[in-house]
Amino acid sequence: MIPITEYAGRDVAVYGLGRTGLAAARALKAGRARVHAWDDNEASRAKAEAEGIPLSDLNKRDWQSFAALVLSPGIPLTHPQPHRLVRLAQMTNVPVVGDIELFARAVQSMPQRGRPKIIGITGTNGKSTTTALIGHILKECGIDARVGGNIGTGVLDLPPLHANAYYVLELSSYQLDLVKSLRCDVSVMLNVSPDHLDRHGGMKGYVDAKKRIFNNQQPGDTAVIAVDDMYTQSIAMDLASRGRARVIQVSSEFALGRGVSAIDGKLFDSLAGNAVRVGDLAGAPTLPGRHNYQNAAAAYAACRALGLDAGRIFGALTTFPGLAHRMEQVGQIDGVRFVNDSKATNAQAAEQALRAYPRVYWIAGGVPKAEGIEPLSPFFDRLAKAYLIGEAADAFAKTLDGKADYKRTKTLEAAISSALEDARNSGEENPIVLLSPACASFDQFKDFEARGDAFKTIVADLGGQIVSRSLKETA
Ligand code: ADP
Repeated sequence: MIPITEYAGRDVAVYGLGRTGLAAARALKAGRARVHAWDDNEASRAKAEAEGIPLSDLNKRDWQSFAALVLSPGIPLTHPQPHRLVRLAQMTNVPVVGDIELFARAVQSMPQRGRPKIIGITGTNGKSTTTALIGHILKECGIDARVGGNIGTGVLDLPPLHANAYYVLELSSYQLDLVKSLRCDVSVMLNVSPDHLDRHGGMKGYVDAKKRIFNNQQPGDTAVIAVDDMYTQSIAMDLASRGRARVIQVSSEFALGRGVSAIDGKLFDSLAGNAVRVGDLAGAPTLPGRHNYQNAAAAYAACRALGLDAGRIFGALTTFPGLAHRMEQVGQIDGVRFVNDSKATNAQAAEQALRAYPRVYWIAGGVPKAEGIEPLSPFFDRLAKAYLIGEAADAFAKTLDGKADYKRTKTLEAAISSALEDARNSGEENPIVLLSPACASFDQFKDFEARGDAFKTIVADLGGQIVSRSLKETA
């Protein structure tokens, strides 16, 4: 744990006692602050109380006495409207901060030479993969790397700060909204597409939140930006023109004159101007597809910026164990391979998986997003057959009608059995059954992890050999 001593002897309100809120309450308590913690959910309160975190109903408190409100990132700060307790804090001039801000200030308060390195990663998609990948590369290179933030462990639950530690932090737009003092030695932005617009009051608010990852960077720091979409392209140009941090461009679409490119999986380093071929990502089995080439290129560039050797970085890319529920190869039955991409909760994410395979037995469905699977129509010719589950089944069937073979199987279990039978009888060599639902899960499962775990269990029960490697605890 990283004790937060900034508020020693003062009263601090902590609202939201999920993974990060609890970690913040513990860290503040360890730093001798008087913590007043609250969550509307009774079970969350009980869990905190069992740990000795003092509870106090913040709705009934006199707010004048608080030195800060530590807010969980999931709670609305500005849009659709500020949460009632945020408004209370604002009316009484109580600063609103998040756990990443507390961490950043603790780092800033250390003497320059004793500070750890901070690597921050954001983007609409690929944050977790890239964060885990950078952590893996650093560890393989013998570095004391700690991975957390929006993935796995809350930042303040990571081991204490010291000069040789590297903190690799996944940062969501909600977390970045609550950050002022964070200074990343290396910041990574993967891609930007419209997401969470209601929470940020539109696209501008969302992009502005993401851009905060570059705040406070100084000459000597690095901003790694994948320039494969128009938002990141303009951000990269803007940052380069300001001339503070060094900007490294990476791409999985363009062969860059200067930067890092991963075209069709061939990784090229042209950071020094001349393009040097580093290796072929075909040798990195857990990083298939163009989207993962972008993640790999960004992780490579970030680690180069930290001074690591190109060959060692590439070696570590090939041994990355991968994240659960993201194109996770879970096992085989009679030569039929099963891939769990349960994390693909929208068409854009499912597209990455369909793009990676020329022919698939595709399991999709759940609670559909507004766009349905219409955006995936360029990939319908890759479908050996689709197996439709959950609420989306009728709508998806309509979209597929006349364009691809499909079956309404209702449940995941029935979908897997049908797909296995069809794939086994196809005579194809190593056919692929892919769960990439393009839907939320909550009509049939608690969350995307429960859906992916069910997929693995059913495949195991049918006789499949299961490989499990979960690194991420939450979305
Ligand atoms: P995040 O943490 O940003 O949600 P993940 O690494 O968990 O991202 O990946 C979630 C899903 O997004 C994956 O299943 C994959 O389909 C898709 N994805 C991963 N990386 C990228 C990328 N660089 N660009 C677009 N989509 C991606």
